[in-house]
Order: sequence, then C-alpha cells, then structure tokens
Amino acid sequence: MRHLIIIGGGIAGLASAHRVQEAIGQGVPVKCTVLEASSRFGGKIHTRRENDCIIESGPDSFITQKPQALALCKKLGLGDRIVGTRKNNKTFIYLNRRMLTLPDGLSLMVPTKFLPFITTSLFTWPGKIRMGLDLILPRRRSGRDESLASFVRRRFGQEAVDRLAQPLLSGIYSSDPEKMSMQATFPRFIETEKKYGSLIVGMLAGKKAMLLRKPEPSKNYQPYSLFVTLKNGMSELVETLMQKCPDIEFKSDSPITGLTQNGSGVTVTLDSGETIEADAVLVATPANVTARLTQTIAPEVSEKLNHIPFVSTAAVVLGFKREGFKHPLKGFGFVVPATENRKITACTWVSSKFPCRAPEDKVLIRAFVGGALKQELAEQIPEQILRDVKDELRDIMGVTEAPEFEHVFQYKKGNVQYPVHHQEMVASIEEGLKNHPGLFMAGSAFKGVGIPDCIAHGTQVTEDILSYFDQQDPTTKP
Ligand SMILES: Cc1cc2nc3c(=O)[nH]c(=O)nc-3n(C[C@H](O)[C@H](O)[C@H](O)COP(=O)(O)OP(=O)(O)OC[C@H]3O[C@@H](n4cnc5c(N)ncnc54)[C@H](O)[C@@H]3O)c2cc1C
Repeated sequence: MRHLIIIGGGIAGLASAHRVQEAIGQGVPVKCTVLEASSRFGGKIHTRRENDCIIESGPDSFITQKPQALALCKKLGLGDRIVGTRKNNKTFIYLNRRMLTLPDGLSLMVPTKFLPFITTSLFTWPGKIRMGLDLILPRRRSGRDESLASFVRRRFGQEAVDRLAQPLLSGIYSSDPEKMSMQATFPRFIETEKKYGSLIVGMLAGKKAMLLRKPEPSKNYQPYSLFVTLKNGMSELVETLMQKCPDIEFKSDSPITGLTQNGSGVTVTLDSGETIEADAVLVATPANVTARLTQTIAPEVSEKLNHIPFVSTAAVVLGFKREGFKHPLKGFGFVVPATENRKITACTWVSSKFPCRAPEDKVLIRAFVGGALKQELAEQIPEQILRDVKDELRDIMGVTEAPEFEHVFQYKKGNVQYPVHHQEMVASIEEGLKNHPGLFMAGSAFKGVGIPDCIAHGTQVTEDILSYFDQQDPTTKP
C-alpha cells in the first residue's frame, strides 16, 4: 500500500486529506498521514469560543462566487450550518475624516449605476470624469502581467487607485497595489477588458446576463450571500472534515525539519529525530517553510520558493457590552485608504456583519493592522498594537467604552504576496517539481490565498498524487 504524507494541517493539507479519504472510500489502497507542527489543525483557520462570542483570529468567512469551499461544506454535511451575512450590507470608506458609503451598484471597483456614482462624495468631479473615460479608452494589447495600481490607473485614474483599489482590493491581500499581480489576483478584470474594451460595459453585460439566467426561486434554490461562514465559526469546517476522515492518521505536535530522497520515495524527518518513509509527500506549509523543508531534496525549487514575499499583519478583536455602546454599527465595517495615513487598515463590525457571532447584548469588533504598506505596525509588541487600535477606534468611531475582552493575533511574515509575474514563478516551481517525483506542494502561495482557492489547490494536487501512484501501480486510481 502506498503511503502519502501530508505536511501541514491547514485547509490546503486538510482538503488533500479529504480527497484521499474519498479515494480510500472508493477502494483505492492508500495510507495517508497528516503531520502538523502545532497542537491543533486548521492553520490560519482558528475559532475561539469565549464569553458566548465566536472569535476568529484568521479568516471569518469565505466567498461563494468560487464554489470549492461551499461544495466541500455541503459534502461534509455542513449545508445547514452555513450562515450568510446580514442584509445591512453597507461597507464604509473612511476618507477625509468622514465615513462614506460605497455607491450603490459598485461591482468591486466598477461603477454600474449612473445616479449613485454621480452623486457620491467618495470621488471628486475630475475623479468621476476620469473614471468615466473607461468607456472610451482603448483596451491594452499586451498580454504581460501588470500591477493592480497600473491596471486601475489606466482604466479609471489615480483617484480610483487611492480610494477603491488600494483599500478594497489590495487590502484583501494585505498588499501594495503597485507591486501586486493583476493576473494572479483579479484575472476577471483583465478578461473583461480584453472582451469588452471597457470594464463598465463588461460589468453591465455580466449583470444583464446574470439577470436573464437567474433561476426561478424553488424549494431547492438556496441563494447565498457573497460571503458566508459557519454557525460555530470557521473551525467547524476543520473539525467536521477531520471527523469525516476516519482512515486518515492526523498527528499534531509533529514539526517536520527536513526531507531527503530515498530511492523513489521520500524520508521525512521530524523535529524529534524520528524518520518516516513515504512514497509521496505533499508539502502544504507556508511557502517560506516549504522552501526550508525542501532545501536538501529540491534546492532549485526551494530557491524559487524563497523569492515569494511575505508581509506581517495583525488582527485585534474587541468585545464590548452592547448596553451603553454609543456607535450604531449599522453596516459591515469600514476600510481606510493608505492615503489617510492611519494605523488601522480596516475594521469589521463582526456582530453586525454576521448573526451568531455574539449574543444580542454584546458587540464584537475586529480591526486590522499592517500589511505591505505598514507592516512594522503589526510587528510591534501586542500591547502597543492594542493601544494603536484603541486610539484609532476612539478617533475614527468615537469608541471610548472599555472592552470586556480583547485579543491581538499577530501574523509575522504570515501573509503571502503575489507580486507581478507571480504566475510565471508558480509555473517554474511546478516545472521544477517534475524533476522530483514523489514531491508535491500545495497551499496559499500558489493559486489563490482564499479558502476556496486553497481547497481547490489541495484537491487538485491530490488528483496528481493519485495519478502518480496509479502510474507506479495501476491499482491505486479509482
Ligand atoms: C487574519 C487573516 C484573515 C483572513 N481572512 C480570510 C477570509 O476571511 N476568507 C478567506 O477565504 N481567506 C482569508 N484569509 C486567508 C486564508 O485564511 C489562508 O490563505 C489559508 O487559510 C491558508 O491555508 P494553507 O493551508 O495554505 O496554510 P496555513 O493555514 O498557513 O497552514 C499551514 C500549516 O502548516 C503547518 N506547519 C508549518 N510548518 C510546519 C512544519 N515544519 N511541519 C509541519 N507542519 C507545519 C502550520 O502550523 C499550519 O497549520 C485570511 C488570512 C489571515 C491571516
């Protein structure tokens, strides 16, 4: 029986384990062990339940436009545990010391409704006119990658970069819009420009097509909001997945220190000095760790992985009594453009965004610090990060109430970045791996940082592993 070792029990490694479990269920003779360095599984996904609140230190939701996370939840029997965002879906931009709502009809960064766009005070008149030029500007001919800022500046002008693209889009990736790859992060915009010449025309065409396609609401039709979570928090996905994988061996507190080739297999060395033989290894750790682990076995791949940059961020969760809390929290929260020069990048009003996160008598807020443009702020001691966040929330939202509980979650060099030409780097890593049969890699460094992307990548690489086993011994593929 072939032995697969998965290193790293984040969502990419766990999605892989789940795919192996499915194959085992179909009669494929594979043994699979997941080795996780820390005492718990889930990696960046980590829910704490405290004071009757659900506190997420990492991801708090996933996008439903990409189907993989939703599909996995349903496969795991979590369909009725999925919770959408509340209806009050206003997101604010904090600009010039004012909270401005995003104009109705804004599709990510593309205006699709005339009146709300014309009347918004989010943009100046010259800014609005410049954005409107998208309708007549010629499409770009070159197929080469460019930065998010370069793309948005070409189509909509600098004001749209500063007030929309930077806080909303590069904010998702904690990235510098001048460095972040458009192809690796928002390929849909490139395709729209290519097809329609104008993003506004393309988005309007997409909306029209969607309206025409919209299925009749029926008993089986269950629409989801753009972002969803699970009733008991994102760790419910991790816990359920592990329960549904009875044939997989999950070992926590098992940090790996190195890999060596052993004939056609791989020897995995643990921190304890113990070694385990595997027929294939899937390294699903963050790319900077993967680079270290593969230094001996695949030095040229490791060298490339070392070029993938990481930045630091921190998330601060504050819980308050609702009674006496002055801010109305009507919306999902706000983002802060870098041009405002503040110490927080965004703030989610968690108890307003999702039901089931806090009881009615409590308020839950999560603020973000750091990212590519200000990572030093996220690398300070937790007490200072907390002071910065409280100062900012006092100044921006008027929060003077003392929190009942507070947490600082730091991700020092924990957020992978996709610089321009990232896809070429990933392709050359994949090419390099072809010289190392039995060695596979997955995770957020490759084809998307979101949970659906990591699930998709972990699953797809597992298909490659099963095919690899099958080529060696044609009984292993279902
Ligand atoms: C604050 C924050 C908020 C986010 N919000 C969202 C969101 O709302 N929605 C969304 O879709 N995405 C979000 N993301 C992104 C998403 O959470 C991550 O990209 C994704 O969870 C990464 O999964 P992964 O399996 O690739 O890596 P990880 O989750 O990093 O897992 C890697 C695992 O490898 C283990 N490991 C490391 N070294 C070793 C070793 N030597 N031996 C064995 N094991 C090792 C680690 O302990 C870890 O468990 C967020 C990320 C952060 C940091």
